[in-house]
Amino acid sequence: MFDYLIVGAGFAGATIAERLAADGGKRVLICDRRPHIAGNAYDHYDADGILVHKYGPHIFHTNARSVYDYLSRFTEWRPYQHRVLASVDGQLLPVPINLDTVNRMYGLTLTSFELEKFFESVAEPVEQIRTSEDVIVSKVGRELYEKFFRNYTRKQWGLDPSELDSAVTARVPVRTNRDDRYFTDTYQVMPLHGYTRMFERILGHPNIKVLLNADFREIKGMIPHRDVIFTGPVDEYFDYRLGRLPYRSLNFQFETRNVTVAQPGPVINYPNDNAYTRVTEFKYLTGQEHHKTTLVYEYACAEGDPYYPIPRPENAALYKRYQELAATTPGVHFLGRLGTYKYYNMDQVVAQALTLYTKIAELPQRDLSLTTA
Ligand SMILES: Cc1cc2nc3c(=O)[nH]c(=O)nc-3n(C[C@H](O)[C@H](O)[C@H](O)COP(=O)(O)OP(=O)(O)OC[C@H]3O[C@@H](n4cnc5c(N)ncnc54)[C@H](O)[C@@H]3O)c2cc1C
Repeated sequence: MFDYLIVGAGFAGATIAERLAADGGKRVLICDRRPHIAGNAYDHYDADGILVHKYGPHIFHTNARSVYDYLSRFTEWRPYQHRVLASVDGQLLPVPINLDTVNRMYGLTLTSFELEKFFESVAEPVEQIRTSEDVIVSKVGRELYEKFFRNYTRKQWGLDPSELDSAVTARVPVRTNRDDRYFTDTYQVMPLHGYTRMFERILGHPNIKVLLNADFREIKGMIPHRDVIFTGPVDEYFDYRLGRLPYRSLNFQFETRNVTVAQPGPVINYPNDNAYTRVTEFKYLTGQEHHKTTLVYEYACAEGDPYYPIPRPENAALYKRYQELAATTPGVHFLGRLGTYKYYNMDQVVAQALTLYTKIAELPQRDLSLTTA
């Protein structure tokens, strides 16, 4: 019998599997309904031999030393500072908005100090910040909001920023200096040989068995196990009995070109023109040298794989009811982006899994004869 049946072989499932097996000495079965490990971080070589991320670009960045140290046991790293340009009024301008963005957009030569004054002069006073629109217009005013944020957000979420929780854009920085890095975290790195190779090592412990193409619902009755750790959608676990938690999905369109470099930076955002939201050129991220190059175009959509929990108050309220149900379901732990309906980055999911492991390790062990099916 397995001590744990772990559902989902993404960052959440793989991290907790590794801890339970390697530190806790438990026998673990990890299943995934996809034909591969690594969840949304899965990468592979395409038909032309270019390393691509199947579910869109994944850039690792964290301030958590513990998470960086933990993952460093399974991979070497390649230093990588991410940069994003936005296509606005026929120019490619740095985002997050910084001194160069504003100067190039308006043909100005402002200093940092003058830019602060500029933002103060265009910012709209908002008494209580509730929506994503409030966050942005109160920082940079309506024109920059319209050009850089409004339509991007509408494409990405299918909702106007005025309908979205302030949390979506609360962390979007606006800079008055010339720092054009997308992230400012202490650790900004990419796994040297890719995410999938790193996951192979995370799951390489002999106490871990991996079962792919296997949906939890199909196998749960067939495999004797004690506890479950579920990193799939929490509403799905409960057969949607309280209703469906809404997710935003994406369609990815890959394109390989017969040139060494196709665009002037790793990611170009299209806040206004074009149906796609952004285009990523993978070789910038991976550092791979190749005479061809592969790009991915992202189209946001309502139907498809659940990628982004939609942060609206009514969804948070529905999740809270599922959370209460989860808390009263013995022998099952919910974890990860889908299991806890939260817009987490990879490092946050690893931290969440490490914390859950610590909690489990401190719990008195349940009787192993209690087979759950
Ligand atoms: C387009 C995109 C870009 C992103 N970019 C970044 C980035 O640059 N940096 C960053 O830090 N984060 C990024 N993220 C977030 C990152 O993908 C998540 O933080 C991470 O994947 C969460 O890991 P997880 O294990 O919780 O979920 P997942 O990776 O989604 O893994 C869950 C797994 O569970 C499986 N599963 C679900 N239900 C079942 C079932 N019933 N039976 C069997 N298996 C099941 C799924 O197939 C899936 O493989 C991005 C996400 C997306 C969608």
